[in-house]
This record gives sequence, C-alpha cells and structure tokens, in this order.
Amino acid sequence: MTEEAAPLICSRKGCRAPATWELRWNNPKLHTPDRRKSWLACDEHRENLSEFLSVRGFLREVLPLQPS
Ligand SMILES: [Zn+2]
Repeated sequence: MTEEAAPLICSRKGCRAPATWELRWNNPKLHTPDRRKSWLACDEHRENLSEFLSVRGFLREVLPLQPS
C-alpha cells in the first residue's frame, strides 16, 4: 500500500482520464498556510478545476505531472 501505487486519474467527478496536471491548493480556513492539498487533472479538466479553486482563493500552483 504505497502512495505511488495509486492510479493517477483526474480528480474531476466522473472523469476516468489519466491525469497530466497537479493542482496544489490550500484552504486558509481549514489548513495552515504551508499545507498543500492536491488534485489531479487531465488536459480537459485542468482549466475547470483550476477555476473552481481560484475563484475561492485556494489555488496555489499548477504543475505538470511527470510521467513515471
Ligand atoms: Zn478529467
């Protein structure tokens, strides 16, 4: 049971596409400032998920996922 074994699938509800982006975010009401949560996104949903986080002021950075 390692973190690496988890399939890298888009976090968008209902989407089964392989993730190519990592969206790192923080909710200041729940998390300390240095804490990062991350969502994975496919090409199609990167913009949608980024916008969801950025309108709430949660989005910190978007990084390309390196294929392993
Ligand atoms: Zn997707």
